[in-house]
Amino acid sequence: MRRTTSIEPHRAGSRQPIPSKPAQGNRGRLRRLSRPAVTMLFGRLASLDPEPRTELHFRNAFELLVAVVLSAQSTDVGVNKVTPRLFARAPTPAALLELGEVQAARLIGSLGLFRSKARHLIGLSRLLVDRHQGKVPDSREALESLPGVGRKTANVVLNVAFGQPTIAVDTHIFRVANRTGLAPGRTVLDVERGLNEVVPPAFRQHAHHWLILHGRYVCKARKPDCGRCVLNDLCLWPEKNGGGPEARRHSSPGQVDRAQNA
Ligand code: SF4
Repeated sequence: MRRTTSIEPHRAGSRQPIPSKPAQGNRGRLRRLSRPAVTMLFGRLASLDPEPRTELHFRNAFELLVAVVLSAQSTDVGVNKVTPRLFARAPTPAALLELGEVQAARLIGSLGLFRSKARHLIGLSRLLVDRHQGKVPDSREALESLPGVGRKTANVVLNVAFGQPTIAVDTHIFRVANRTGLAPGRTVLDVERGLNEVVPPAFRQHAHHWLILHGRYVCKARKPDCGRCVLNDLCLWPEKNGGGPEARRHSSPGQVDRAQNA
């Protein structure tokens, strides 16, 4: 099973400040990439990394669910440090239930919010055992009814464990979607809806991984690495820096102009 990236706890629809200024037109309206430019954007991300690999460690849907719940406000590295011992002691919902909240909290004690996370893990294990025969359900409604599981966590599980083309908007995707003009929006839910409208079907399955990784390693919050960004010529963010050789290698000005004006 593929692995996924860090997940942070943004509930759908929650208010979240737009990082820096989004791409805006003269009248303050959020600028949007044209459809051909969106296709070019994903084509480039896909050509760089056709099968995006991510960083949480897990072996099955249950471990994925646990890892994603633990990753709220924690790094993947931090989560990966605690999950081997946790999964060794509690490889199933029934085993985690038996382990109990106190022991679970001890095993994940290096993570922020570890007490509430332990409580959520026990609560979701109980529901998995009682309502789902110990299995992770593949419906959004059932997933979101589990303690500690919001829309974003459900989107990740649906995408990674069950192959559904969902897009989980975390802080990185929120930033990239706003800066580039891919799917500008003032809330996480706005951005998720915008992405669902504009991401071409061929790119839907991996879209959230590509955008997370781009935001984490290139379009970083404080110092975006615009000089080596392959999206530089497409990006509508007014504060972007000029593209360096790596960006120019992917740039074909005439083609980009035509795409952006389409
Ligand atoms: S050009 Fe800069 S701001 Fe635009 S996507 Fe690339 S790194 Fe982000």
